[in-house]
Amino acid sequence: MASPQVVGASIAELADGVRARKWKARELVESFLDRIHRLDGRLGCYLLVDADGARWRADQVDAAVAGGRDPGLLAGVPIGLKDIFVTRGLETTAGSKILRGFVPPYESTVSTRLAAAGAIALGKLNMDEFAMGSSNENSAFKPVRNPWDLERVPGGSSGGSAASVAASLCAGSLGTDTGGSIRQPASLCGVAGMKPTYGRVSRYGVIAFASSLDHPGPFGRTVEDVAALLEVIAGHDACDATSIPSPVGRYRQACAAGLAGLRVGVPEEYFQAGMDPEVEAAVRGAIDEIARAGAKLVPVSLPHTQYAVATYYLVCTAEASSNLARYDGVRYGHRTAEASSLEELYSKTRGEGFGVEPKRRIILGTYVLRSGYYEAYYGKALRVRRKIADDFRAAFSKCDVLATPTSPTAAFKLGERNADPLQMYLADIYTVAPALAGVPALSQGCGFTRANLPIGLQLIGPPLGEEAIFRVAGEYQRRTDWHKRLPKDPS
Ligand code: GLN
Repeated sequence: MASPQVVGASIAELADGVRARKWKARELVESFLDRIHRLDGRLGCYLLVDADGARWRADQVDAAVAGGRDPGLLAGVPIGLKDIFVTRGLETTAGSKILRGFVPPYESTVSTRLAAAGAIALGKLNMDEFAMGSSNENSAFKPVRNPWDLERVPGGSSGGSAASVAASLCAGSLGTDTGGSIRQPASLCGVAGMKPTYGRVSRYGVIAFASSLDHPGPFGRTVEDVAALLEVIAGHDACDATSIPSPVGRYRQACAAGLAGLRVGVPEEYFQAGMDPEVEAAVRGAIDEIARAGAKLVPVSLPHTQYAVATYYLVCTAEASSNLARYDGVRYGHRTAEASSLEELYSKTRGEGFGVEPKRRIILGTYVLRSGYYEAYYGKALRVRRKIADDFRAAFSKCDVLATPTSPTAAFKLGERNADPLQMYLADIYTVAPALAGVPALSQGCGFTRANLPIGLQLIGPPLGEEAIFRVAGEYQRRTDWHKRLPKDPS
C-alpha cells in the first residue's frame, strides 16, 4: 500500500485513493493529525482536535471499503469545521468565551451530510468571535497566522478554515460567509472558497450572527474540491425555513464545461481607488486570461456599490443584537460567578463573556433598531439592500458571471488594523454587496504579490448560478497553476 502524500493533495485524489485501496482513511487521518500536532502550535488554526473521534470514523470508512461498500464521494477525506457549526458531544464556542463549555446536543445539517458522504471531521477551526471580523484577531482564544507569512493575518472571520487548507492541516473545510468571511480569507490564504446562494446550504446548526446574511460554504485547494464539498452540503433542509427546495447543480461537471458562449461582466465600481496596484494587475490579468479562454467580456455597472459597506454594518449589527440576546448566562456556556439579582446575572455574564467586537455590534445594533431610529437606519438600510440586489439583477441581464477582486489588498500584518474598526470594515468592500444580494460568489487564487502573498479573483453569479461560476473558475484554474503553489511549513 502506498503511503499517502497529504501535503497539497486534493480531495479528489485522497478519496479516489481510499476507494481504490491505495491507502486507508486511517492513514490519511494519522498523517493530518501528525501535521496538526507538529505545525498548528505556530499557526493556531484549530480550537479543538478530535483525534479519537476522527480515528474511529476513519476505521468505519475503511471497514466499509473492505466490505465492498462505497463510503461516498468524500471517502475518508479529513476535513475541518469552523467552530460555528454545532457538533454533537464536541464543545462549540463560535470563538467566544461566552460559549466556553457549551457541548451541543445536536449536529448541524452540513456536518451530518459531510459525514454521510464519508468525510472525517478532524476538529473545530478557529474564527473571529461570532464571525465578526476580517482578520481572525477577534477570536477570544488565539489569533490564526497566515501560512504564507506568519506575521500576517489569514483574513476572517473563517481564518482557521482558510489557513488550515492552505497549510495542509485538513484537505478541505467549511466556513460561513456573512459579508465576506469565506471569500476574503480564501483570497488572503491562496485557496478557493465559495459563498453559495443564500438558502442553498442549510443554516441548521450554524450559530447565528446575522440570519438574513449567514451563508455556510466550503473551502478547498482546487475549485473542483469546492464543487465536490458543495454538492454534498447543498440541498433542501426542512430544518431551515429559508432553505431552497430546487435540486442541487452538477458543480464538478461544470468545472470542466468550458466557456463557450459565456459572458463575463466587469463592474467598473470594483476597480476604483483604494485597491493595491499589485492586486489590480493580477485581477485584470486573470480577466484577460478568461477572455482568451473564450468568454466575452462586458462592461457593467453596479451603481449602489458605494453604499454596501454602510448598509451591511446596519443590517448585520441589527440582526446580531437580536441573535446574541440569547446568551444570558441561563441557557448556554459561561455564567458569572457572582450575581445578586437576575439583571446582574445578565449584565455580568454578558460583560465577562463577550469580547469588544460583539459588544460594539450589540450596542450599534440595539441603537439602530430603537423605536424612533428604526426607520432612519434599519428601514433605510433594507431599502438600499433592495437597490443593491436590483443592481445585480440588472447586471445579470447582460452577463452570466461577474469578475472582480476579492479583497483590495493582500494579507495585512497582525495588529495593523486593530485600532481602527472602520479600517478593518473596509476589508469587506468587494464582498459585502454579493452577501446583501444573496447571490453566489467564489474566490480563487489569481496571483501573488512581490512579497509572495496570494491574491484572489472573485467570481459572482446570479441566484442559483453556481454552475456558471464553476465553469469560469474551472477553466481559469486549468490554464494557471496558482493553486499548485504551497506555503512552506512553519519551522
Ligand atoms: N468582516 C465582516 C464582518 O466583520 C464579515 C464577517 C462575516 O462574513 N462573517 O462582519
